[in-house]
Amino acid sequence: MQEKGTISIHTENIFPIIKKFLYSDHEIFLRELVSNAVDATQKLKSLAALGEFKGEIGDTRIKISVNKNAKTITVSDRGIGMTAEEIKKYINQIAFSGAKEFIEKYKDKDQSQQLIGQFGLGFYSAFMVAEKVRIITKSWQEGAEAAQWSCDGSTEFEISPAVKAERGTDIILHIAPDSEEFLQPYRLREILTKYCKFLPIEVALENEVINNTQPLWIKNPTELKDEDYLNFYHELYPLAEDPLFWIHLNVDYPFRLTGILFFPRVKNELVNRNKIQLYQKQVFITDEVKDIVPEFLTLLHGVIDSPDIPLNVSRSFLQADSNVKKINNYITRKVADKLQELFKADREAYQQKWEGIEVFVKFGMISDDKFAEKAAAFALLKNTQGKYFTFDEYKEHIKANQTDKNGNLIILYTNNPEKQDMYVQAAQKRSYDVLLLNGIIDSHFAGFLERKFEKVQLKRVDAETIDKLIEKTDTSTVILSEEEKKEVTELYKKISGKDTVTVSALSSDELPVSIIVPEFFRRMKEMAMVGGGMDYARQMPDQMSIVINGNHPLINKLVKAQTPEEKEKIARHTYDLALLAQNMLNGKDLTAFLNRSLEWLN
Ligand code: ADP
Repeated sequence: MQEKGTISIHTENIFPIIKKFLYSDHEIFLRELVSNAVDATQKLKSLAALGEFKGEIGDTRIKISVNKNAKTITVSDRGIGMTAEEIKKYINQIAFSGAKEFIEKYKDKDQSQQLIGQFGLGFYSAFMVAEKVRIITKSWQEGAEAAQWSCDGSTEFEISPAVKAERGTDIILHIAPDSEEFLQPYRLREILTKYCKFLPIEVALENEVINNTQPLWIKNPTELKDEDYLNFYHELYPLAEDPLFWIHLNVDYPFRLTGILFFPRVKNELVNRNKIQLYQKQVFITDEVKDIVPEFLTLLHGVIDSPDIPLNVSRSFLQADSNVKKINNYITRKVADKLQELFKADREAYQQKWEGIEVFVKFGMISDDKFAEKAAAFALLKNTQGKYFTFDEYKEHIKANQTDKNGNLIILYTNNPEKQDMYVQAAQKRSYDVLLLNGIIDSHFAGFLERKFEKVQLKRVDAETIDKLIEKTDTSTVILSEEEKKEVTELYKKISGKDTVTVSALSSDELPVSIIVPEFFRRMKEMAMVGGGMDYARQMPDQMSIVINGNHPLINKLVKAQTPEEKEKIARHTYDLALLAQNMLNGKDLTAFLNRSLEWLN
């Protein structure tokens, strides 16, 4: 007997709204229907395990088929099926209330709403692509009669007895004219590969199985070899280089989470194409996990699978969610433990990998206090001689020679050993150690180290003249008279066109003139660059100062010179030498310098 009814809902016509709001994500209808099929199959298996279902389970493969002539897509499963009563309850009432709730949440929001496509709209998402949906189903229960339900997208449905030999459910979608792209098998394969690649029940599109039902992350780590992890990595990211190492996550309480995180080689880039994939019970949800894991962890690759991450909520709610917080802490702790373990087990091997992980570790330390605390034990500093130190080791290493008169420990570094060679050598002549900080976030990292350690300052080797880099005692004096100092200062101001000229007492084997770039201004500029304010940063002036070595014989010669021409020639040439040492001598000035040098040599 055929029965007609009206779906109890007040919204006049729910389907056009579903369609409109999920516009960009129509493809998820297939994920939802296949997930339902998987659930129904797993329920049947549980019933069999409990001894309630005594029949033959048979082949449980979920089949997706297309009929191009009839313009239908059918999703068939051999799960628990439904009786007519259950259809009324689960499809007409429960499923509909899910759809209604969705609309109430989203009707006032715009389409850019981040999580819109991740909302489990369930069965009714079929109406995003279908003008009519039919269900033909037969329950697992003995003597159950098959039933049929159909609905054309209005609020009215029909339900009637049907003929169906086997237990399970067929969902038949009559595809709407504007969704005919989904009748192309390649398009369906694409969607299935994206969302269903690791579902626990076999899924086949026209007899071709799509999924690996036993993905690595659900297996027991003790049974897995390195090779298994590498193969799985390449299954996820076919084009990627081998990862450096990985962590297998597995926790049951206080939240459920499994997964594998891989450490790629992170070089000088903070975006990495291969993203972490989020699954729920082996169903792909998204690879936009930036609201779910801390930003620095998004540099990692791999899979996390947790049914305890709420998806149908806004971003701020998600970040405040207590499970999400716990998951974050857990992953952060696991990552830190892994690095610590590698460091302890084989420091040599760890040091060799350091270049590939330092950006990650430093980024983590800057952005996450808890991680920073743990990382202090395995974060490394590398000096210009290629030696590695932990923070504590390094402080100990330089303490004796690099403490200034105020008790500050001065860490010297270069971000470009080639260009700053003069300065590095001057430091080394005084037995100072120079760190190599040439990574993309090292300006931020320098700031971080200063904030973290009291009485520690970082200075780039060219931030001051060598005597001032680490001020010990002010003993040496300039041999020039006050008048001579003034003369020299004025002359260099004229030549350089800059106001910041000072005379200082350096030893006579240092350069006659140096150009220094004060640490503070330079770091501000570099940080603005990394922070994305490129244009603004470029406009910031280069704050450089000119320091005259009042004790250098050439400066003495300048003062004693007979004619203004001769004085100016010495001044110009020594100034050019200073520019040259900083890689700042270019164009006409460089040509003039070369000509002047040749003239003198002749
Ligand atoms: P959800 O899956 O989140 O419960 P849905 O709207 O997708 O919401 O489905 C509503 C209900 O309809 C399901 O809970 C289930 O009881 C029933 N159902 C849907 N698809 C199937 C299926 N293929 N086999 C058996 N029952 C199903």
